[in-house]
Amino acid sequence: MRFMAKKYLIETFGCQMNVHDSERMAGLLDQAGYEPTDDERDADVIVINTCSVREHAEEKLYTRLGKLRVLGDETGHRPVVAVAGCVAQQEGATLLRKTNGHLIDVVLGTQRLKMLPLLVDKAARAPFAEVDVAPWDDVSFPLGIARRGDPVKAYVTIIEGCNDYCAFCVVPYTRGHERMRPKADILADVREAAASGRREVQLLGQIVNHYQAPDDPACDFAQLLAEVHEVPGLERIRFASPHPRHTGARLIEAVRDLPKVCKHMHLPVQSGSTRVLQAMRRRHTREQYMELVAQIRDAIPDVALSTDMIVGFPGEGVEDFEQTLSLVEAVQYSSIFSFKYSVRPNTLASKRMPDDVSEAEKTARIVALQSLQREIQMGLHERAVGTTVDVLVDAVSRRRDGEMSGRTTGNTVVNFPPPGGAGSQILDSGSQWIGRTVPVTIRRAEPNSLWGEVAGRVPLGAPGRDPC
Ligand code: SF4
Repeated sequence: MRFMAKKYLIETFGCQMNVHDSERMAGLLDQAGYEPTDDERDADVIVINTCSVREHAEEKLYTRLGKLRVLGDETGHRPVVAVAGCVAQQEGATLLRKTNGHLIDVVLGTQRLKMLPLLVDKAARAPFAEVDVAPWDDVSFPLGIARRGDPVKAYVTIIEGCNDYCAFCVVPYTRGHERMRPKADILADVREAAASGRREVQLLGQIVNHYQAPDDPACDFAQLLAEVHEVPGLERIRFASPHPRHTGARLIEAVRDLPKVCKHMHLPVQSGSTRVLQAMRRRHTREQYMELVAQIRDAIPDVALSTDMIVGFPGEGVEDFEQTLSLVEAVQYSSIFSFKYSVRPNTLASKRMPDDVSEAEKTARIVALQSLQREIQMGLHERAVGTTVDVLVDAVSRRRDGEMSGRTTGNTVVNFPPPGGAGSQILDSGSQWIGRTVPVTIRRAEPNSLWGEVAGRVPLGAPGRDPC
């Protein structure tokens, strides 16, 4: 009789860090003998990896748990439910009380991922829930375990946690204090990702450019980029996110001089008003940020810059918001992630700053900001028409008759029909293009992407192309 492996399903909310944590949890469950499934009716273990950076995260979790309970009542099958991620860390055992102790079997903190298989196993056999949200300074992770979901790019964590305590941000409370991963572990992870065929690595951390290798006093973030650059098989290196106040000449030169490092920097600013930045405890002013932008553009004229922006922070007046608009206009970002301010638990702002910008005003401001950014993006994209860019292909669209999709070094999405034309035959062979870099001449600008055609004849050989 064939042994039937137990199955797991992981649902992920939030940032790239959470996506990678889910890849790690999937790998741990694989190693423990489970198999992945996409079907919640079939799953013996369901992990909900939560995010609490924006509000309503908890409500979303309770809604999801309620649906799982209804499903369990319908099917008579009750999986082990584990809640992981930032909401789990933030709420701990309180989550059990809030759900009357019968919807959740495991509460797993952000620093306790490695305990997942053990806790799931214990919870499956015991009548009570397991809670583990204790801090854990160990940032090592067994090599080759993460089940990387993306065939082209690999996330590699270099720093966990943050010590900055910006007034609006919940991350230092949910991810703990800043811990650096040893350089040897990072390079081994990058080599493993490249050897498994990934063309791009994305180095992750709350403030990546604060990196200082615990196992090599001479290695800062710029040096780490230089060493990652030497890993054979890699074509592109990205990182998220650097903090403006730690962005100095060494990092700018590394981005300029290392061919595999993408000419794109995500440089969170959060507001265009120095007054608001000070209230946010960002430790940089508008003027310093603009000086930095000028320095980066001077060194790397074609660099793409993106950012994070919050509107409606406590005390943000109309003039402050106008400064945000003027900063966005001046920088000409390739993209922005913009959010309405919401009170997050434990943060300085939640304790000392009244949430005094009305919801209607926050909505009006975010609409104005996004509409300005849309115009800027359209202008940048129109200027790209007629140019030829290198696109690393990461997807083939079934919906668009085999059209391929990828990103430029500046992280702009480019769609294009495959060489030889669209159609089902191409679609079948489309996966052969995934992971290849293709020169594409841009023919059409759209607000969020570009559309083009392959420039010349591209032989379908081994994936990749060494840009060095
Ligand atoms: S730098 Fe500020 S915004 Fe970024 S993770 Fe740390 S506290 Fe949060």
